[in-house]
Amino acid sequence: MPPVNPKTSYPSGLDCRLAVLGRDARLTPHRRAVFQTLAESTDHPTALDLFTRIKTRSSDISLATVYNCLEHLTSNGLIKQVHLERGQSRYCANLHEHVHFHCEKCGKVTDAHPMADFDPATYWNLPKGAKVTRTDVAIHGLCPDCTK
Ligand SMILES: [Zn+2]
Ligand SMILES: [Zn+2]
Repeated sequence: MPPVNPKTSYPSGLDCRLAVLGRDARLTPHRRAVFQTLAESTDHPTALDLFTRIKTRSSDISLATVYNCLEHLTSNGLIKQVHLERGQSRYCANLHEHVHFHCEKCGKVTDAHPMADFDPATYWNLPKGAKVTRTDVAIHGLCPDCTK
């Protein structure tokens, strides 16, 4: 097999996602910056976390703009909003089927993907005839670092 460098030979995650969703790719530079920053973050940042990170590359952005961009990206299905408990929403750019593992001690949020093809209806006793459109499951506990 020829060597493949995913960093250079593939379009950005956002371009892939827009292609899959068939959306207009002409996102504003701010929306693009917010998406890219989120896609590079694996820690499910809040809007404020993202604002702090984006400021280093796009100094003209305001916190209100970050909120607007997140709202736009969420409502277009490009990212997910994560509600774990009281407090600020966090955001996730991973749209593969997954649940969130939340450490109750350090607050770290990790993506957990299903072991096999996931059909929520075989795991949960849902109302008869219900059709699942998306799952929003969080599992709480202690992360490996916090159990040491
Ligand atoms: Zn996630
Ligand atoms: Zn922890």
